[in-house]
Amino acid sequence: MTPTAATPDAATAIDVSGLTRRYGAITAVDGLSFTVPRGQVVTVLGPNGAGKTTTLETLEGFAAPDAGSVRVLGLDPWRQSGALRPKIGVMLQAGGAHLSARAGEALSLVARCSANPLDTGWLLEVLGLGEVVGVPVRRLSGGQVQRLSLAMALVGRPELLILDEPTAGMDPQVRHLVWDLIRAARRDGMTVLLTTHLLDEAELLSDRILIIDHGRLLADGSPAELVAGSAPELTFAARPGLDLIELAGLLPADVTTAEPSPGHYRLTGQGISPDVLATVTAFCARNGVMPQRMHTGARSLDEVYLQLTGSQVRS
Ligand code: ATP
Repeated sequence: MTPTAATPDAATAIDVSGLTRRYGAITAVDGLSFTVPRGQVVTVLGPNGAGKTTTLETLEGFAAPDAGSVRVLGLDPWRQSGALRPKIGVMLQAGGAHLSARAGEALSLVARCSANPLDTGWLLEVLGLGEVVGVPVRRLSGGQVQRLSLAMALVGRPELLILDEPTAGMDPQVRHLVWDLIRAARRDGMTVLLTTHLLDEAELLSDRILIIDHGRLLADGSPAELVAGSAPELTFAARPGLDLIELAGLLPADVTTAEPSPGHYRLTGQGISPDVLATVTAFCARNGVMPQRMHTGARSLDEVYLQLTGSQVRS
Protein backbone atom coordinates (compact mmCIF):
# COMPACT_ATOMS: atom_id res chain seq x y z
CA MET A 1 0.00 0.00 0.00
CA THR A 2 1.33 3.48 -0.81
CA PRO A 3 1.72 5.93 2.10
CA THR A 4 -0.83 8.33 0.57
CA ALA A 5 -3.49 5.61 0.41
CA ALA A 6 -3.17 5.01 4.16
CA THR A 7 -3.19 8.69 5.16
CA PRO A 8 -6.50 10.51 5.48
CA ASP A 9 -6.63 13.45 3.12
CA ALA A 10 -5.76 16.41 5.37
CA ALA A 11 -7.26 18.87 2.88
CA THR A 12 -10.69 17.22 2.99
CA ALA A 13 -13.03 18.05 5.86
CA ILE A 14 -15.94 15.85 4.76
CA ASP A 15 -15.92 12.82 2.49
CA VAL A 16 -19.28 11.17 1.81
CA SER A 17 -19.40 8.19 -0.52
CA GLY A 18 -22.54 6.31 -1.52
CA LEU A 19 -24.32 7.31 1.70
CA THR A 20 -27.72 5.64 2.13
CA ARG A 21 -30.07 6.07 5.10
CA ARG A 22 -33.50 4.47 5.42
CA TYR A 23 -36.43 4.93 7.78
CA GLY A 24 -38.35 1.69 7.28
CA ALA A 25 -39.62 1.76 3.71
CA ILE A 26 -38.46 5.39 3.15
CA THR A 27 -35.03 5.89 1.61
CA ALA A 28 -34.19 9.34 2.97
CA VAL A 29 -30.65 9.44 1.55
CA ASP A 30 -29.99 7.43 -1.57
CA GLY A 31 -26.34 6.83 -2.50
CA LEU A 32 -25.18 10.39 -1.88
CA SER A 33 -21.53 11.26 -2.60
CA PHE A 34 -19.75 14.58 -2.12
CA THR A 35 -16.65 16.08 -0.54
CA VAL A 36 -16.05 19.33 1.30
CA PRO A 37 -12.50 20.72 1.26
CA ARG A 38 -11.27 22.35 4.46
CA GLY A 39 -11.88 26.09 4.70
CA GLN A 40 -14.93 26.21 2.44
CA VAL A 41 -18.49 27.27 3.23
CA VAL A 42 -20.73 24.69 1.57
CA THR A 43 -24.52 24.89 1.56
CA VAL A 44 -26.90 21.98 1.05
CA LEU A 45 -30.12 23.06 -0.65
CA GLY A 46 -33.18 20.94 -1.26
CA PRO A 47 -36.96 20.90 -0.80
CA ASN A 48 -38.62 19.71 2.43
CA GLY A 49 -37.89 16.03 2.92
CA ALA A 50 -34.94 16.02 0.48
CA GLY A 51 -32.69 14.32 3.05
CA LYS A 52 -30.61 17.28 4.27
CA THR A 53 -31.09 16.82 8.02
CA THR A 54 -30.69 13.05 7.72
CA THR A 55 -27.35 13.60 5.95
CA LEU A 56 -26.19 16.10 8.58
CA GLU A 57 -27.16 13.72 11.41
CA THR A 58 -24.90 11.08 9.90
CA LEU A 59 -22.00 13.53 9.63
CA GLU A 60 -22.56 14.55 13.27
CA GLY A 61 -22.39 10.91 14.40
CA PHE A 62 -25.99 10.74 15.63
CA ALA A 63 -26.81 7.87 13.26
CA ALA A 64 -24.89 5.24 11.29
CA PRO A 65 -25.16 4.90 7.49
CA ASP A 66 -27.21 1.96 6.21
CA ALA A 67 -24.77 1.82 3.30
CA GLY A 68 -21.80 3.81 2.07
CA SER A 69 -19.14 5.57 4.05
CA VAL A 70 -18.71 8.91 5.77
CA ARG A 71 -15.49 10.53 6.98
CA VAL A 72 -15.45 13.80 8.89
CA LEU A 73 -12.03 15.35 9.61
CA GLY A 74 -10.60 11.93 8.77
CA LEU A 75 -12.75 10.15 11.39
CA ASP A 76 -15.75 7.84 11.24
CA PRO A 77 -18.44 9.94 13.00
CA TRP A 78 -20.39 6.90 14.23
CA ARG A 79 -17.51 4.76 15.52
CA GLN A 80 -15.18 7.59 16.56
CA SER A 81 -17.72 10.10 17.85
CA GLY A 82 -15.76 10.67 21.09
CA ALA A 83 -12.71 11.84 19.13
CA LEU A 84 -14.75 13.85 16.63
CA ARG A 85 -17.15 15.68 18.99
CA PRO A 86 -14.59 18.23 20.33
CA LYS A 87 -13.56 19.13 16.77
CA ILE A 88 -17.02 19.98 15.43
CA GLY A 89 -19.61 22.59 16.37
CA VAL A 90 -23.17 21.56 15.73
CA MET A 91 -26.24 23.77 15.62
CA LEU A 92 -29.40 21.71 15.65
CA GLN A 93 -32.75 22.85 14.18
CA ALA A 94 -34.37 22.42 17.61
CA GLY A 95 -31.75 24.30 19.64
CA GLY A 96 -30.11 21.88 22.09
CA ALA A 97 -29.77 23.77 25.39
CA HIS A 98 -31.35 22.50 28.60
CA LEU A 99 -34.62 24.40 29.08
CA SER A 100 -34.24 25.20 32.77
CA ALA A 101 -30.61 26.44 32.46
CA ARG A 102 -29.99 30.18 32.16
CA ALA A 103 -28.65 31.26 28.74
CA GLY A 104 -25.22 32.24 30.13
CA GLU A 105 -24.90 29.00 32.13
CA ALA A 106 -25.85 26.87 29.16
CA LEU A 107 -23.08 28.44 27.08
CA SER A 108 -20.50 28.28 29.89
CA LEU A 109 -21.24 24.58 30.33
CA VAL A 110 -20.32 23.93 26.70
CA ALA A 111 -17.30 26.26 26.92
CA ARG A 112 -15.93 24.30 29.92
CA CYS A 113 -15.78 21.17 27.75
CA SER A 114 -13.44 22.91 25.32
CA ALA A 115 -9.66 23.25 25.66
CA ASN A 116 -9.55 26.77 24.19
CA PRO A 117 -13.03 28.32 24.27
CA LEU A 118 -14.00 31.75 23.01
CA ASP A 119 -14.93 34.30 25.66
CA THR A 120 -18.58 33.52 26.42
CA GLY A 121 -19.44 37.10 27.48
CA TRP A 122 -18.07 38.45 24.20
CA LEU A 123 -19.89 35.82 22.15
CA LEU A 124 -23.23 36.53 23.87
CA GLU A 125 -22.77 40.27 23.26
CA VAL A 126 -21.88 39.76 19.59
CA LEU A 127 -25.01 37.66 19.13
CA GLY A 128 -27.16 40.28 20.85
CA LEU A 129 -27.82 38.02 23.86
CA GLY A 130 -26.10 40.20 26.48
CA GLU A 131 -29.45 41.22 27.97
CA VAL A 132 -30.71 37.65 28.45
CA VAL A 133 -27.64 36.03 30.07
CA GLY A 134 -29.61 35.30 33.25
CA VAL A 135 -32.87 34.30 31.57
CA PRO A 136 -33.84 30.59 31.56
CA VAL A 137 -33.69 29.08 28.08
CA ARG A 138 -37.39 28.20 28.18
CA ARG A 139 -38.26 31.92 28.40
CA LEU A 140 -36.16 32.95 25.37
CA SER A 141 -37.82 33.70 22.05
CA GLY A 142 -37.34 31.25 19.19
CA GLY A 143 -34.78 33.54 17.54
CA GLN A 144 -32.86 33.92 20.82
CA VAL A 145 -32.74 30.13 21.32
CA GLN A 146 -31.37 29.81 17.82
CA ARG A 147 -28.66 32.42 18.49
CA LEU A 148 -27.75 30.65 21.73
CA SER A 149 -27.52 27.41 19.81
CA LEU A 150 -25.17 29.07 17.33
CA ALA A 151 -23.07 30.41 20.22
CA MET A 152 -22.88 26.86 21.63
CA ALA A 153 -21.71 25.57 18.26
CA LEU A 154 -19.03 28.27 17.94
CA VAL A 155 -17.70 28.58 21.48
CA GLY A 156 -15.23 25.68 21.27
CA ARG A 157 -13.52 27.09 18.11
CA PRO A 158 -14.40 23.95 16.13
CA GLU A 159 -12.59 22.91 12.97
CA LEU A 160 -15.95 22.22 11.34
CA LEU A 161 -19.24 23.99 11.92
CA ILE A 162 -22.45 22.15 10.94
CA LEU A 163 -25.49 24.43 10.87
CA ASP A 164 -28.99 23.14 10.10
CA GLU A 165 -31.07 26.12 8.92
CA PRO A 166 -29.15 28.60 11.11
CA THR A 167 -31.26 31.64 10.18
CA ALA A 168 -34.72 30.06 9.92
CA GLY A 169 -37.29 32.42 11.41
CA MET A 170 -34.75 35.15 12.25
CA ASP A 171 -35.48 38.79 11.55
CA PRO A 172 -33.32 40.45 8.87
CA GLN A 173 -31.00 42.25 11.34
CA VAL A 174 -30.14 39.03 13.17
CA ARG A 175 -29.78 37.18 9.90
CA HIS A 176 -27.09 39.67 8.78
CA LEU A 177 -25.34 39.22 12.10
CA VAL A 178 -25.28 35.44 11.65
CA TRP A 179 -23.96 35.86 8.10
CA ASP A 180 -21.14 38.04 9.46
CA LEU A 181 -20.28 35.34 12.02
CA ILE A 182 -20.21 32.63 9.36
CA ARG A 183 -17.93 34.78 7.20
CA ALA A 184 -15.68 35.43 10.22
CA ALA A 185 -15.56 31.68 10.95
CA ARG A 186 -14.44 31.06 7.37
CA ARG A 187 -11.77 33.77 7.63
CA ASP A 188 -10.50 31.99 10.75
CA GLY A 189 -10.06 28.84 8.66
CA MET A 190 -13.17 26.96 9.80
CA THR A 191 -15.05 24.74 7.41
CA VAL A 192 -18.80 25.38 7.44
CA LEU A 193 -21.56 23.07 6.19
CA LEU A 194 -25.05 24.51 6.38
CA THR A 195 -28.55 23.98 5.12
CA THR A 196 -31.03 26.69 4.26
CA HIS A 197 -34.20 27.27 2.30
CA LEU A 198 -33.08 30.82 1.47
CA LEU A 199 -31.45 30.85 -1.94
CA ASP A 200 -30.10 34.39 -1.52
CA GLU A 201 -28.43 33.27 1.72
CA ALA A 202 -26.86 30.30 -0.05
CA GLU A 203 -25.66 32.52 -2.90
CA LEU A 204 -24.18 35.14 -0.56
CA LEU A 205 -22.32 32.82 1.80
CA SER A 206 -21.27 29.75 -0.12
CA ASP A 207 -18.12 28.76 -1.89
CA ARG A 208 -20.12 25.79 -3.13
CA ILE A 209 -23.74 24.71 -3.22
CA LEU A 210 -25.01 21.13 -3.28
CA ILE A 211 -28.59 20.71 -4.49
CA ILE A 212 -30.18 17.46 -3.36
CA ASP A 213 -33.63 15.95 -3.74
CA HIS A 214 -35.02 12.52 -2.88
CA GLY A 215 -31.70 11.86 -1.14
CA ARG A 216 -29.71 12.24 -4.37
CA LEU A 217 -27.24 14.87 -5.54
CA LEU A 218 -28.63 16.93 -8.43
CA ALA A 219 -25.97 19.65 -8.71
CA ASP A 220 -22.66 20.63 -7.11
CA GLY A 221 -20.83 23.85 -7.90
CA SER A 222 -20.07 27.42 -6.96
CA PRO A 223 -23.04 29.80 -7.23
CA ALA A 224 -21.52 31.19 -10.45
CA GLU A 225 -21.01 27.69 -11.90
CA LEU A 226 -24.59 26.69 -11.16
CA VAL A 227 -26.06 29.60 -13.13
CA ALA A 228 -23.39 29.58 -15.87
CA GLY A 229 -23.82 27.91 -19.22
CA SER A 230 -27.50 28.71 -19.39
CA ALA A 231 -28.93 30.68 -22.27
CA PRO A 232 -29.50 34.41 -21.70
CA GLU A 233 -33.05 35.47 -21.05
CA LEU A 234 -35.32 38.47 -21.04
CA THR A 235 -38.24 38.52 -18.64
CA PHE A 236 -40.98 41.04 -18.02
CA ALA A 237 -44.47 41.36 -16.59
CA ALA A 238 -47.44 42.80 -18.48
CA ARG A 239 -51.14 42.14 -18.90
CA PRO A 240 -51.85 38.45 -19.51
CA GLY A 241 -52.49 37.02 -22.96
CA LEU A 242 -50.15 39.04 -25.21
CA ASP A 243 -49.96 37.52 -28.70
CA LEU A 244 -46.75 35.50 -28.43
CA ILE A 245 -47.17 34.03 -31.91
CA GLU A 246 -46.99 37.55 -33.35
CA LEU A 247 -44.01 38.40 -31.10
CA ALA A 248 -42.15 35.17 -31.97
CA GLY A 249 -42.54 36.05 -35.69
CA LEU A 250 -40.57 39.26 -35.11
CA LEU A 251 -37.69 37.58 -33.26
CA PRO A 252 -34.68 35.47 -34.34
CA ALA A 253 -35.57 31.78 -34.71
CA ASP A 254 -33.44 30.69 -31.73
CA VAL A 255 -35.30 32.90 -29.25
CA THR A 256 -38.19 31.07 -27.60
CA THR A 257 -41.10 32.96 -26.07
CA ALA A 258 -43.30 31.77 -23.20
CA GLU A 259 -45.85 33.00 -20.67
CA PRO A 260 -45.01 30.58 -17.80
CA SER A 261 -47.68 32.12 -15.57
CA PRO A 262 -50.38 34.65 -16.53
CA GLY A 263 -48.80 38.04 -17.17
CA HIS A 264 -45.19 36.81 -16.79
CA TYR A 265 -43.21 36.56 -20.00
CA ARG A 266 -39.88 34.85 -20.61
CA LEU A 267 -37.75 34.93 -23.75
CA THR A 268 -34.79 32.54 -23.83
CA GLY A 269 -32.02 31.92 -26.34
CA GLN A 270 -28.51 32.79 -27.46
CA GLY A 271 -30.03 35.28 -29.91
CA ILE A 272 -31.14 37.67 -27.15
CA SER A 273 -29.56 41.01 -28.08
CA PRO A 274 -30.18 44.77 -27.89
CA ASP A 275 -32.21 44.39 -31.13
CA VAL A 276 -34.46 41.81 -29.46
CA LEU A 277 -34.97 44.18 -26.54
CA ALA A 278 -35.95 46.97 -28.96
CA THR A 279 -38.34 44.62 -30.81
CA VAL A 280 -40.02 43.59 -27.55
CA THR A 281 -40.50 47.17 -26.34
CA ALA A 282 -41.82 48.23 -29.79
CA PHE A 283 -44.23 45.25 -29.72
CA CYS A 284 -45.42 46.30 -26.25
CA ALA A 285 -45.84 49.94 -27.41
CA ARG A 286 -47.96 48.84 -30.41
CA ASN A 287 -50.16 46.88 -27.99
CA GLY A 288 -50.47 49.83 -25.61
CA VAL A 289 -48.66 47.87 -22.88
CA MET A 290 -46.08 49.20 -20.40
CA PRO A 291 -43.79 46.25 -19.53
CA GLN A 292 -42.97 46.00 -15.82
CA ARG A 293 -39.90 44.54 -14.05
CA MET A 294 -38.03 43.97 -17.30
CA HIS A 295 -34.86 41.98 -16.67
CA THR A 296 -32.13 40.65 -18.92
CA GLY A 297 -29.27 38.34 -17.99
CA ALA A 298 -28.50 34.76 -17.07
CA ARG A 299 -30.85 32.55 -15.08
CA SER A 300 -30.96 33.17 -11.37
CA LEU A 301 -30.09 30.50 -8.80
CA ASP A 302 -33.81 30.48 -8.04
CA GLU A 303 -34.63 29.36 -11.56
CA VAL A 304 -31.85 26.76 -11.63
CA TYR A 305 -33.11 25.37 -8.31
CA LEU A 306 -36.75 25.22 -9.43
CA GLN A 307 -35.79 23.64 -12.73
CA LEU A 308 -33.84 20.89 -10.94
CA THR A 309 -36.26 20.21 -8.10
CA GLY A 310 -39.58 21.09 -9.76
CA SER A 311 -42.00 23.80 -8.70
CA GLN A 312 -44.51 21.59 -6.89
CA VAL A 313 -44.90 22.17 -3.17
CA ARG A 314 -43.94 19.15 -1.00
CA SER A 315 -46.06 17.99 1.91
P1 ATP B 1 -36.57 19.83 5.74
O1 ATP B 1 -36.13 20.82 4.72
O2 ATP B 1 -38.07 19.78 5.83
O3 ATP B 1 -35.89 19.96 7.06
P2 ATP B 1 -34.84 17.60 4.99
O4 ATP B 1 -34.26 17.79 3.63
O5 ATP B 1 -33.97 17.94 6.15
O6 ATP B 1 -36.23 18.36 5.11
P3 ATP B 1 -35.07 15.01 6.22
O7 ATP B 1 -35.56 15.55 7.52
O8 ATP B 1 -33.70 14.48 6.14
O9 ATP B 1 -35.30 16.07 5.06
O10 ATP B 1 -36.11 13.86 5.77
C1 ATP B 1 -35.88 13.02 4.64
C2 ATP B 1 -37.00 12.00 4.55
O11 ATP B 1 -36.93 11.11 5.65
C3 ATP B 1 -38.40 12.60 4.56
O12 ATP B 1 -39.21 11.80 3.73
C4 ATP B 1 -38.83 12.46 6.01
O13 ATP B 1 -40.24 12.36 6.12
C5 ATP B 1 -38.14 11.15 6.40
N1 ATP B 1 -37.79 11.11 7.85
C6 ATP B 1 -36.96 11.97 8.48
N2 ATP B 1 -36.81 11.62 9.77
C7 ATP B 1 -37.58 10.52 9.97
C8 ATP B 1 -37.85 9.67 11.09
N3 ATP B 1 -37.29 9.89 12.28
N4 ATP B 1 -38.69 8.63 10.89
C9 ATP B 1 -39.24 8.38 9.69
N5 ATP B 1 -39.02 9.13 8.58
C10 ATP B 1 -38.21 10.19 8.71
